[in-house]
Amino acid sequence: MKRLAVYCGSATPADPVYLEEARRVGRTLAERGIGIVYGGARLGLMGALADAALRAGGEVIGIIPEALVGAEIAHLGCTELHVVPGMHERKRAFTDRSDGFLTLPGGVGTMDELWEALSWAQLGYHHKPVGLLNVAGFYDALVAFYRQLGDVGFIRPVHRELLLVRNDLDALLDAMAHHRPPPSLVSMRVEDL
Ligand code: AMP
Repeated sequence: MKRLAVYCGSATPADPVYLEEARRVGRTLAERGIGIVYGGARLGLMGALADAALRAGGEVIGIIPEALVGAEIAHLGCTELHVVPGMHERKRAFTDRSDGFLTLPGGVGTMDELWEALSWAQLGYHHKPVGLLNVAGFYDALVAFYRQLGDVGFIRPVHRELLLVRNDLDALLDAMAHHRPPPSLVSMRVEDL
């Protein structure tokens, strides 16, 4: 994996564990020579991630929609900052420019990005790994819900392992690097759907 799209919160939670973990991820990816593609903001976890990666000599590519490009939001220190017309072009760019998707704690925007990456993986619009870093148990409820989607039958058995969840970054990157894409919906026979 040469580059990962990293999704994380634009807010700054009171508990410092989240910013610290975002910094650790930025530093670790830079040290491993893995570039970051992200939302291009300097706020919250997004800014902490980008700053730490840049300080460690890493590549950070920001993709930001025009409407959010105000100087106080955009991170002007990125290796590259691409301004795109809107959210659709931006998501397309995340997918086209990365070798996988890594989600850290975040809010609604982060959830939107995570579920889209998963949905597109099921459909076969991409075949890249989708990883979730469960920092301090933040995603326990989401992981339980994801399991429930499979238990009830809203996620097909072949796709239940698409979401790679680990508490530890090294273990997660390892799982992502060894990911083998399952059959996609577009390649399956109607009788198997
Ligand atoms: P949220 O989790 O709601 O804070 O949203 C963060 C995610 O949505 C990030 O991964 C970004 O790609 C995108 N995003 C949300 N707010 C911004 C912003 N102000 N600037 C750039 N990207 C943002």
